[in-house]
Amino acid sequence: MAKFKEEDVYIFNKERECMTREEFRELQLRRLKKVVRYAYDNVKFYRDLYDAHNVSPDDIKTLEDIQLLPFITKDDLRNTYPFDLQAAPKEDWKEVHSTSGTTGIPTVAAYTQKDLDIWAEVTARGLASVGVHKNSIVNIAYGFGLFTGGHGAQYGAQKIGALAVPMSSGNTKRQLNFIHDFPADFLCCTPSYALYLAESLEKEGHNPKDVSLKGGVFGAEMWSEEIRNKLEEKFDISAQNIYGLTEVMGPGVSTECHIKEGMHIAEDHFYPEIIDPETLEVLPEGEEGEIVFTSLTKTGMPVIRYRTKDLTSLNYEKCKCGRTTVRMNRITGRSDDMLKVKGVIVFPKQIEEVIMEMKELSSAYQIVVSRPDTLDVIEVQVEIDQVNFSDSMMDLEAFKHTIAKNIKEAIGIGVKVTLAEPYSLPRSEGKAVRVIDKRNFN
Ligand SMILES: [Zn+2]
Repeated sequence: MAKFKEEDVYIFNKERECMTREEFRELQLRRLKKVVRYAYDNVKFYRDLYDAHNVSPDDIKTLEDIQLLPFITKDDLRNTYPFDLQAAPKEDWKEVHSTSGTTGIPTVAAYTQKDLDIWAEVTARGLASVGVHKNSIVNIAYGFGLFTGGHGAQYGAQKIGALAVPMSSGNTKRQLNFIHDFPADFLCCTPSYALYLAESLEKEGHNPKDVSLKGGVFGAEMWSEEIRNKLEEKFDISAQNIYGLTEVMGPGVSTECHIKEGMHIAEDHFYPEIIDPETLEVLPEGEEGEIVFTSLTKTGMPVIRYRTKDLTSLNYEKCKCGRTTVRMNRITGRSDDMLKVKGVIVFPKQIEEVIMEMKELSSAYQIVVSRPDTLDVIEVQVEIDQVNFSDSMMDLEAFKHTIAKNIKEAIGIGVKVTLAEPYSLPRSEGKAVRVIDKRNFN
């Protein structure tokens, strides 16, 4: 019998999550006017930016007038490091979060109590959609600390009244003991870490299906439908996608319901637009482009037309779950991390899909791009799955050839495939590092 039950899921805030389109638009316009005025009056950056563009908060008369406002980017956030984008007075700051800064100066955001309350509300909506109730135990294996992941899930679980177990990431042995001993109903972590937990259980001779988990919300990195299938099958759970970013709030900006046809955006708090990343033109519903967010209610660090670089599309149709909030599709890539190899655009996800479909391979893999001479070379390191691979059945060279052929069909260019022993490729306890680009562009 499946552990996840559809009758356990519910809509946390019917009043907000099921409004008509007109009601949403009316509320969004009211809040947009307010936040633009608030940012202009309290943040020198916005005042200078809007003055330079000859636009004033009073010019916002319809929701479409948002297009009069210039976009802001990660560079703007870096240039105002650490606190020049904060709008609320310092005495109202209650918590600070930051991005890791692995690609440069980190982005820092201060949260007021009101921001933290909204964050708890939106993550509670997401957790309710996987079936978290008052009597649930939610194991949170996202990193805690300055990273937003763990905290958002904890506030959401507690808002529902559930018991949050702030495991944080790492110390896998202890994680597994806790999942057994407590026993947790739900798991929140990166999908790659969840898979690693499943593998670790298998390695110790356990069947992950035997643990008490019924569902999980997984995010903080890109993942594919194939990884979802693996997670659902291995643990016998409902695996739902959660999306968010520190610049906008953290996880909970959008979460998938159990129908799994896109992530419901908490659009009473975060207003989405899809733009063409090249022309910056706003695209119509259904077209894929870069998602841009405006925080409608945040008081600590409001962001107005923030370019996320994440590529997706929007769907305004009412969902089968009953919610009417707009849904965003799975992130298909980032406008700044697509790989350009031999002049061809390659998304790591295309390679991942091929790997996940081959049951003889584990879910761990790494893509190494190099330029030994003048030509780019992609090496895909894949790992044999201990359970499903039987070497007596297969000639290894022929197997590598099949993998390379499947990848070439998916991305259009040839790759070199390297097979690794089971459990030998690096596992990540946070965000998985899948691509190593060794080319020197300087
Ligand atoms: Zn839904």
